[in-house]
Amino acid sequence: NAPLGEVDPEIAQVLERELERQRGYLEMIASENFVPVSVLQSQGSVLTNKYAEGYPGRRYYGGCEEVDVAEELAIERAKALFGAEFANVQPHSGASANAAVLHAIARPGDTLLGLSLDHGGHLTHGMKINFSGRLYNIVAYGVDPETSVIDMDEVERLAVEHSPKVIIAGWSAYPRQLDFARFREIADKVGALLWVDMAHFAGLVAAGLHPSPVPHAHVVSSTVHKTIGGPRSGFILTNDADIAKKINSAVFPGQQGGPLMHVIAAKATAFKLAATPEFRERQERVVRGAAILAERLSQQDVKDAGISVRSGGTDVHLVLVDLRDAEIDGKQAEDLLHEIHITVNRNAVPNDPRPPMVTSGLRIGTPALATRGFGDAEFTEVADVIALALQPGADLEALRARVAALTAAFPLYPGLQQ
Ligand code: PLP
Repeated sequence: NAPLGEVDPEIAQVLERELERQRGYLEMIASENFVPVSVLQSQGSVLTNKYAEGYPGRRYYGGCEEVDVAEELAIERAKALFGAEFANVQPHSGASANAAVLHAIARPGDTLLGLSLDHGGHLTHGMKINFSGRLYNIVAYGVDPETSVIDMDEVERLAVEHSPKVIIAGWSAYPRQLDFARFREIADKVGALLWVDMAHFAGLVAAGLHPSPVPHAHVVSSTVHKTIGGPRSGFILTNDADIAKKINSAVFPGQQGGPLMHVIAAKATAFKLAATPEFRERQERVVRGAAILAERLSQQDVKDAGISVRSGGTDVHLVLVDLRDAEIDGKQAEDLLHEIHITVNRNAVPNDPRPPMVTSGLRIGTPALATRGFGDAEFTEVADVIALALQPGADLEALRARVAALTAAFPLYPGLQQ
């Protein structure tokens, strides 16, 4: 039982250097966050040793008495946090949660109506070479080319035309709130089930800063590691007892074998933390930070560089930047921000004239920096740094120094050693 540094110095170095990277860069990938040390502890614990196929009280292995407690806590806390009657907390990831949802409520060959990938949807909502696109008949809705906002009349028109079995509401890159009531109305009109994938905005829902899909959807899936800021994993909610049974059997044995009990314990802690006033205050900084960023990136000097903010702003935790009219493309912008120690990801815009590995957009998110402690003043500073960096002839050295001042003022995981 020698420590990692002795057993495997190469991997130990990866951990050390990654911690340094996270400390030294401003993390603005919209789907990332920093878990609290309490979550790291569960994930690096002896619970990783335990097989627990089945559900609490109904396991296929002995010795599950302690992990049962952890899973029950995670289930009860998820239900309370989101006001749902049922929760399954076993999905290893968002994608496996989504696979289980479809396994539970649709059959191969059924028609699904979801937001197309290049308009901000997720791979599991029907991308051609994903399991969802291969097993189901996909019809996609998109955003309005002028406003970049989902046109609900178009969703309704497509639903009436194609009679989908499932309508999917949810996104990976979209800066506005969804109208869940209207989605449900459309689903009811055509006899479809409404599935909401709240992976991105679940933390905002938990904090009461975003409408909840739970009262409207037949089933809701989510990740735990984006705005919630918990361990990398997924969960599923529903208020429908029949769907609940199908979800349980779709997750195990339908999709997975043994659940990751160390991760489930960490989920329980993440849900506990997400019910606190501190969490709500943090999510308020997340949303205000994104609004500050959208505002700065809409100013004249940025416009003059051919750069705009899609949909004209944001009401969530991210901003989508449109570079179609700019000299700089998505890849160059991502690389340039990396040079000044800001991490973002390039993102295709609808009907992107540039290839998928280049793109004409950026997705910039605020959750990780809010977790790091950033408030209005710091988001104003970082927004200005980004706005200047994206303009031709930017003084990158000066901007890197401004980033270094921010990372120094907000130490990440103080005292932690990997
Ligand atoms: N659903 C949405 C909307 C997402 O954005 C993502 C991740 O980006 C997922 C599901 C998949 O989550 P994971 O990466 O944990 O499989």
